[in-house]
Amino acid sequence: MNRNALPSPIPALFPRTEERARVDAWLTAELEGALSRIQAGPVTPTIDMAAFRAELRGYDFDTPRPLEELLRWSLERLEHGIVQMANPRYFGLFNPRAAFPALCAERVTNLFNPQLASSASSPVPVELERHVIHAIAQRAGLPDGTGHFATGGSEANYTALLCALTAAHPAFASGGARAFPGPPKLYASRECHIAWLKIAHQSGVGRSALRLVDTDGRGRMEPRALNRAIAEDRSTGAVPVMVVATAGTTAGGMIDPLQACADIAQTERLWYHVDAAWGGAALASDRLRGLLSGIERADSMTIDAHKWLATTMGCAMFITRHARLVSEAFHASASFMPSSVSTIDPYLNSVQWSRRFLGLRLFLALGAAGWAGLGAHVERSVEVIERAKERLVALGWSVANDSPLAVLDVIPPAELGDVRALVGRVVASGRAWVACTAFEGRDVVRICATNGQTSLLDIDALVAALNAVR
Ligand SMILES: *Cc1c(COP(=O)(O)O)cnc(C)c1O
Repeated sequence: MNRNALPSPIPALFPRTEERARVDAWLTAELEGALSRIQAGPVTPTIDMAAFRAELRGYDFDTPRPLEELLRWSLERLEHGIVQMANPRYFGLFNPRAAFPALCAERVTNLFNPQLASSASSPVPVELERHVIHAIAQRAGLPDGTGHFATGGSEANYTALLCALTAAHPAFASGGARAFPGPPKLYASRECHIAWLKIAHQSGVGRSALRLVDTDGRGRMEPRALNRAIAEDRSTGAVPVMVVATAGTTAGGMIDPLQACADIAQTERLWYHVDAAWGGAALASDRLRGLLSGIERADSMTIDAHKWLATTMGCAMFITRHARLVSEAFHASASFMPSSVSTIDPYLNSVQWSRRFLGLRLFLALGAAGWAGLGAHVERSVEVIERAKERLVALGWSVANDSPLAVLDVIPPAELGDVRALVGRVVASGRAWVACTAFEGRDVVRICATNGQTSLLDIDALVAALNAVR
């Protein structure tokens, strides 16, 4: 062994500068080509998955292959192997076509790959994320709000439950759910995001801790039913801890009565969380933000930037007015960490430890478009839905929800037959993507505007696909 030399860096992992630049340039061009094809092509995957699995078995990783060959193959398979969110005829779940500033932020983040666990490792990113969180909190009416970026609404909602439990009983931190004199309970409407069940499970209070409160027939939590559920639980010795209002339900885009829910949480001395994972984007719009009146009374809230604010996946926010409680719920001590600032370090104030720089994407989107631009993006989606609604109603469709946001639930005229079969036909055609969902107990066609580039022609294509008789 030569003590004065090290093996060379592995060229397949760390190629020389010129080689890297060449592959980068080639990849940029390939991506641009793929983008224009997926925007014009079918929204639905067309790949033969049996053939794909067989092909995958050929990748046994014994023989290295050229990176470009692997990249070309991956791109081609993705081009035919996913529902295409970048396609403007995707009227689907809350998944956006990512905005350009967010894509740029990914490149920057990837190069530096900062570790955001501690403020000593990443002073600038930690401060930048705090700044963005503060700006959003202010916009929501929490001038002293703090919080952090999370991987998704599910993580942010989980954080809320842990804070609520920590606030509800001083012995929860050490004793867990057993510390309570009776089973802890949380309340959300029947139309809430059902990830709350997983959250109840993973927090240790159990799935039965979630009370699904009746709705008013229009997809919104019924305050009297909430009061009844809390009273019932108290009378049997259970311990209510948190009320969750949903601002922008998944099925119908409905907003629970945020003021009435806040009143009840206040009277009952419960943590008040607003799950605005999708609908929170309305805060960006001066025209729409009033719809979220009452959110400023929340103890905590969830807003996903990776939905209506059009970042890439994995960009959510947990915002709270109780900074001290978050530290209490997530404190830790480890001698190897470069800093331990209990009020600032993300690893001491959140679920995650090693942490990606999540917030640059929203910082750049907000910075480049301003509130006005981001608000106009949100308003544009509402307008897309208005146009689709007008056209469908003119063709005899009926509207099942009355959301002021960008989700439309419609029921086809009788001659178009069963909703599920109709959605199946549309999706299989690849001409547009819509969902079949249940809203207030009825099967509906769910149409959501998520792509910031959807045009009138795309709406025409959607309407034509929905009305095509087999
Ligand atoms: C999307 C959504 C969630 C889950 O968030 P993820 O980002 O998918 O983890 C929770 N609640 C609501 C209201 C949502 O729209």
